[in-house]
Amino acid sequence: MQNLTKTVFLLLLTAPVSIHDAFNSQQAYNYTAQVARFGERWPGSPGHQKTQDLIRSVLKKDGARIETDDFIASTPRGNVPVHNIIGKFNVSSDPNQPIFILAGHYDTLFTKGFIGANDGASSTAILLSFSNALAKQKTKMQIWLVWTDLEEAIESFAGDDGLYGSRHLAQKLAKDGRAARVRGFFLLDMIGDKDLGVCRETGSTASLQNVIAQAAKELGYAKYFFQYECGIIDDHKSFLDVGIPAVDIVDAEFGRMGPGFDGMGEFHHSNTDTIDKVSRQSLEIVGHTILRTVELLDARLPGNR
Ligand SMILES: [Zn+2]
Repeated sequence: MQNLTKTVFLLLLTAPVSIHDAFNSQQAYNYTAQVARFGERWPGSPGHQKTQDLIRSVLKKDGARIETDDFIASTPRGNVPVHNIIGKFNVSSDPNQPIFILAGHYDTLFTKGFIGANDGASSTAILLSFSNALAKQKTKMQIWLVWTDLEEAIESFAGDDGLYGSRHLAQKLAKDGRAARVRGFFLLDMIGDKDLGVCRETGSTASLQNVIAQAAKELGYAKYFFQYECGIIDDHKSFLDVGIPAVDIVDAEFGRMGPGFDGMGEFHHSNTDTIDKVSRQSLEIVGHTILRTVELLDARLPGNR
């Protein structure tokens, strides 16, 4: 009896955990706070360098294959060095293996005193915890975690100002043929908001949004997703533009809305975007739902994991 109990206990300990159950929201919250403490993170700033170092060290620890996409962007501020970082999980020897991308920007606005706990840090952090959750998991798809750089516009999102990193990466994938293997691109943006409400972004791919809705419903999180619509220019647009199905998973109402406030809420692009506006629970809801969605999409593919 003693031995049996011990065996059952050991079995429980070694039982495979699903990807979404492997996600640790407390860790994601801690990473959010850590990245926000790095301070301003516009390209070239010390905080930007510290964020890059953290991303690389986490990917290394979790055994990801790292690819970088470095280039010089020509901007209204002159030339700016840009560094997208990609961490790949479950890379097989099949040259046609499908790819799925989970992304978020790690740069912040060029504004003195802006630390973007929600806008920048929360998406950077949730991807770091995705790295941890994916480390020991098997998927048929190759999963890429992509930290995009210089998402924020230097002056305004008019014309080609903004989305520099994602545009470069998407066009590179289109040119070298890998875009055809990408089954989908999910962008996470401002998802740490304490008062969580992910909008149904009208430019995004509806069929993929429906799978996210299915995952959210299954987990009891339906009320946090797609209860209102929004139209947002964001990194997903760069991927849509080269024919990749893409969804912006974005909370477009950050704080109070209305006249006198920013179109995306009172804390958006304001120095009040601080860690007290972020909650562990919101990271948990989004993290579980997105990773559950990845499980559902992976299960639809033929073959074994
Ligand atoms: Zn922003």
